[in-house]
Amino acid sequence: MTTRADLRADCARCFALCCVAPAFSRSSEFAIDKPAGVACPHLAADHRCSIHERLRPEGFAGCTSYDCFGAGQRLAQVTFGGRDWRAHDELTTPMMAALPVMRGLHELLWYLVEALDLTSSDPVRGKLTELVRLVEDAVASPAETLPKVDIGALRVAASPLLREASALARDGLGGADHAGDDLSGADLRGADLRGVSFRGALLMEARLADADLYRVDLLGADIRGADLTGARLAESLYLTRTQLGSASGDGRTTLPPALERPAHWTG
Ligand code: SF4
Repeated sequence: MTTRADLRADCARCFALCCVAPAFSRSSEFAIDKPAGVACPHLAADHRCSIHERLRPEGFAGCTSYDCFGAGQRLAQVTFGGRDWRAHDELTTPMMAALPVMRGLHELLWYLVEALDLTSSDPVRGKLTELVRLVEDAVASPAETLPKVDIGALRVAASPLLREASALARDGLGGADHAGDDLSGADLRGADLRGVSFRGALLMEARLADADLYRVDLLGADIRGADLTGARLAESLYLTRTQLGSASGDGRTTLPPALERPAHWTG
């Protein structure tokens, strides 16, 4: 069965699909406009980023927080059999079109595998396992049928299971339900937030320094610009690399074992 290690990007085994497939709009995240399916002008011939060491100062913060959940190398090495789009022009369009589908499937696996890893998930373990198998089957689709995968239906099936696994993990902690709330800029420094649900909440620029986020549900929460210095995130639920990369923290911020400290964090 898929592990979280399988859902970690391995750029050395990919053909820089994320530097070609998505469209960029000039913003605080990207310094340029770029249409979907067109290679970024900073992409070198060897599939490396020519400004990798200075992405943030050059205005490409969005590139530092992007995470494909390992979808890139899966497509490059398995679905398309190691064939490079630069050498096989006919593969460029289907390969780039496949990235959002595979990324969506891998992201779903990221959440489902986390839910399965929780000891409290026993009441839903059977259903979670069944769904992981279905998503894995979709991931294994050949290139021709991958675009037809109904990822929406898989997400609909996953939603109540992930919610239930979260409720079981947070049971007894008395955390408030802030799902979907707009808490942008909220001052939550040092707050005891154990067991809170921030599912789908807006926490942009929120001040969460030294907050206790034990068993806090962060699925889909927007934490762009949030201050996580010294926050306890090690046992938080459904946290992603993209979320971490969009926020700031330091060496005191504790993280779940499957996640790494973003390079731009201080301390
Ligand atoms: S700036 Fe670098 S990492 Fe970002 S899309 Fe362009 S080549 Fe890729």
